[in-house]
Amino acid sequence: MSNCPAVRFLDVKKSYGELTALKGVSFEVEEGAFFGLLGPNGAGKSTLINAMSGLVIPSSGSIQIQGYDVNRNYRQARRVLGLVPQELIADPFFSIQELLVLQSGYFGLKGAEQRAWIGELLERLALSDKADANTAQLSGGMKRRVLIAMALVHRPKVLVLDEPTAGVDVDLRRILWAFTKELHQQGHTIILTTHYLEEAEALCDRVAIMQKGEVKALSSTQDLLSRHYYRYLRVTLAAPAQDLIAPLEARLVERESNGLVFKLEKTASLTQLLGWLSDSGLNVSDVSSRDASLEEVFLDLTAEGKG
Ligand code: ADP
Repeated sequence: MSNCPAVRFLDVKKSYGELTALKGVSFEVEEGAFFGLLGPNGAGKSTLINAMSGLVIPSSGSIQIQGYDVNRNYRQARRVLGLVPQELIADPFFSIQELLVLQSGYFGLKGAEQRAWIGELLERLALSDKADANTAQLSGGMKRRVLIAMALVHRPKVLVLDEPTAGVDVDLRRILWAFTKELHQQGHTIILTTHYLEEAEALCDRVAIMQKGEVKALSSTQDLLSRHYYRYLRVTLAAPAQDLIAPLEARLVERESNGLVFKLEKTASLTQLLGWLSDSGLNVSDVSSRDASLEEVFLDLTAEGKG
């Protein structure tokens, strides 16, 4: 279907008894987006993602993937979705190759073209030499790659990755970043949840920040960063800091061996800050400023009451 978003969440609610995991979530992910779903533990990210694949049935509301309703058009919706879960739940007696062929079968795919695609996936994910290995023998990083191959076996338009780089080493993280970027460039819509805010900042063009079953913020990553109220100033000192005057002390966030870091309202004037530094008798050798990182914005937005 054309002219529809890749994913549309419409007032999705989910309760587990007394607990409300999703309080009516509505938003859209545009086709071709690289979208980050962020939030502290228990925010409802997994519940929302699992509802996309039918693993969780919402109490009310609906989800459409490429225009297909997950409830009413489950097969079509599932066909355009690839989900990379956190854990490999597979029969350990299958080899990687067998697992992928089996997964293809679920989607009714077979034949030479499909075998060639599986071969390509194995190669791209550096799994070719392990194709016949039993999945029980694989390292954590290998299992992660198998999960990605399984999610891509039916060439879905929308790829959802749940914490793709949790617990993986730097090399694999780099491979996974490069691979997901490439899939995005090829036109796939990518949605990922991550605890690594620098990962979202580096990869995602839009982000939603969830907390307690609600969307707290949703915008382009750049907008979110530039709307942030603060910037950070690092002041390098030629001599150790003495007592600071009150307005400086109030804005101090870090003491370093050769300097101080202040969190300054964007509206505050730098001239005033320099005046305060001078009033405190500090011997300043350098000043640098930077905007907030996504991690800092995230912490500010989710500060009042975790969860
Ligand atoms: P996140 O993925 O953001 O960490 P989850 O979606 O896993 O959050 O969880 C949201 C809330 O729903 C949490 O309070 C969690 O304990 C609760 N929850 C999730 N799954 C279940 C379940 N199967 N039964 C009961 N409560 C659940």
